[in-house]
Amino acid sequence: MIRSYPYSQAKSPGLLKALLFAALLLASVVTSADDGEGFPAWVSAVRQEALALHISPQAVEATFNQVSYLPKLIELDRKQPEFVTSFSAYVNRRINQRVVNKGKQMLQDYQGILYVVEELYQVPKEVLVAFWGMETNFGGYMGDIPLASALATLSYEGRRAEFFKRELFDLMRVVEREHYYESPITGSWAGATGHMQFMPSTLLKYGVDADADGKIDIWESYPDIFSSAANYLSQAGWQPGKPISMMVALPPGFDYSLAQLQANKPVSEWVALGVVGIPDSILSLPRAAIILPQGFDGPAYMVFPNFDVIMQWNRSVNYALSVSLLSQQLRQDMYTLAMPPEPPALSYQQMWALQEALNAQGFDSGTPDGFPGGKTQAAIRRYQATQKLPQDGYPGIEIFNRLTAPLP
Ligand code: CA
Repeated sequence: MIRSYPYSQAKSPGLLKALLFAALLLASVVTSADDGEGFPAWVSAVRQEALALHISPQAVEATFNQVSYLPKLIELDRKQPEFVTSFSAYVNRRINQRVVNKGKQMLQDYQGILYVVEELYQVPKEVLVAFWGMETNFGGYMGDIPLASALATLSYEGRRAEFFKRELFDLMRVVEREHYYESPITGSWAGATGHMQFMPSTLLKYGVDADADGKIDIWESYPDIFSSAANYLSQAGWQPGKPISMMVALPPGFDYSLAQLQANKPVSEWVALGVVGIPDSILSLPRAAIILPQGFDGPAYMVFPNFDVIMQWNRSVNYALSVSLLSQQLRQDMYTLAMPPEPPALSYQQMWALQEALNAQGFDSGTPDGFPGGKTQAAIRRYQATQKLPQDGYPGIEIFNRLTAPLP
């Protein structure tokens, strides 16, 4: 699903503060779930806000007539699986022979539409089908939760109130524009809908009526579905004909502190540093980073600007690499993906404890939040430097054990 959660925009100090506040709030109220007593009053207030935003009374009514409070979603919202699953477990759960076969079948079944969409938007059909597989198992499950209830509940709950309220208003705008007054729009618990799991704001901004029937239909019209996704990727800066990611090999003695998503160099500079496995055809590309999703002793991937485009869709490295790997598999004759095994990722609580331990030992990782962001990785790298360890910044179990071991 397309997300723009606060922690995907942590560069903004305001949002960062909001995120930290949310994390602290989460820590303090996680046991006392709201019984929804204040929900009806909240709904009437938001109804007035919507009307003040000049959303049509008919759309506001249609949306709120369907709204109910769904406390179960709040529990779900507090688990973000992309951030607590190890890379290999994540990929193995999503990409396998069955998924690849089904994706290839879909490339066949929709080849006419996909051909036209690829020509128009210059986004490869294998990439579109990979997103489709990742988001809804090729339309197999798009979610059956009334979107208005999901967005209202998550906004009422407060952890990301403004984000979900904006999406709720945009849902009303979708209802207004497309005249969906009768049956409710359904989707995932997190507010995403359709084959490609668009949030309402994404649908408003990037939805395309490709079959020209007067409606943007991302639930049943395949031209609209593929065109809307391609339009999003194209506008997010997709570079036609350029790679997303490729596995590379690092030379002995490689400085692992260079392997960071934000640390881009021209490909030729990586080659000069001894990185191998890079085809001549991409030597002139000006921008690539190296990432180590399993730490320094796992596979190394070189990632390119198209990888950043995928991360605008979903700000998870595991997700973006999975889309890349699945699209590569869809292009090949044989299924060849095999992830090396690795220990489970640290839990949310362990990650939090790791951040506390880093801070306590003088390696500032920011206010603990349980998410291994850039600041945590930088703190780990500084710790690793003092211990003469490879500076990969990877928050694995070994670092956790070292940092949280009782002092002798
Ligand atoms: Ca249409």
